[in-house]
Amino acid sequence: MINRLAIIGVGLIGGSLALSLKQKGAVNEVIGYSRSEAARQQALELGIIDQAATSLAEAVDNADMVFIAVPLGAMATVFEAIAGHLSPEAIITDGGSAKTQVVEAARKALGDKFCQFVPGHPIAGTEKSGPAAAFAELYQDHRIVLTPVADTDAAATAMVKQMWQLTGAEVFEMDVEHHDTVLAATSHLPHVLAFNLVGMLAERDDCDEVLRYAAGGFRDFSRIASSDAVMWRDICLGNRDAILALLEQYHQGISRIEQAIRDGDGDYMIDVFSRAKKARDTRFADPDLIDNSEV
Ligand code: NAP
Repeated sequence: MINRLAIIGVGLIGGSLALSLKQKGAVNEVIGYSRSEAARQQALELGIIDQAATSLAEAVDNADMVFIAVPLGAMATVFEAIAGHLSPEAIITDGGSAKTQVVEAARKALGDKFCQFVPGHPIAGTEKSGPAAAFAELYQDHRIVLTPVADTDAAATAMVKQMWQLTGAEVFEMDVEHHDTVLAATSHLPHVLAFNLVGMLAERDDCDEVLRYAAGGFRDFSRIASSDAVMWRDICLGNRDAILALLEQYHQGISRIEQAIRDGDGDYMIDVFSRAKKARDTRFADPDLIDNSEV
């Protein structure tokens, strides 16, 4: 299906797409770019890419599909660097976790090639980074959201959709703003909370003693605090308004619970906790609604 696939950012997300498409025999050749020689070498050794490019221009030369999987803060620079080197028929897509900022950057840099850019976001990942974290099954049975805009070419969207389906993923379309609001609630806010909680406990003098008695619940909730700091800084800055709106709502909720604890208002706690438990046990456990897979 794809003759020459260019992966810009050969880490967990870019590397896993390359491995999956190779495994499915859906790509003839994969060329990869990362800034560091070590990452490029590792991607070659792991069979993620067939060739390493030492510049962004070289990476996209003659590519019919270009997948950008760098941190959000680096997207604009990548679009600017590749714009003049794309082949006329190239389709460009990305895996960035927030879409408004990426779409604006692509529109500004890509000029008349913007219609061939299909914004995307795989709802799959782990807390690990780099080429060694990539694996071919990452997208199997996961959801991919594409956020084409009015001027996105329908045939390009169909191509990108088909590419993701080959990885075993299910593809959905959403508008850009809706995507950013929804993902702020289910992914971005929980990551901010986990970073804050783990950071707070790590500062304590008795941290080791506290962790010794941590149970599974803490392990589950703290896992995402092991995610890459640069990536999450960029997501917080890139989806600022949606995350701030949720944090305000969260502050109000936590302040109300704090007040109930202070006042000994058990009825309030029973009400809040039992409504949350009911939601978690019913709607949140529905596999059609929430992705309950492990990664
Ligand atoms: P990753 O494993 O750290 O890989 C990022 C890659 O980008 C590395 O190859 C890195 O190599 C390269 N890179 C970093 N800065 C760059 C720059 N300024 N210019 C060019 N290349 C650069 O990260 P990832 O988890 O794959 O995330 C990639 C994208 O996918 C992000 O936009 C993220 O929001 C999104 N995403 C992540 C997840 C997840 O769970 N991790 C899930 C969905 C979407 P060098 O440092 O050598 O350049």
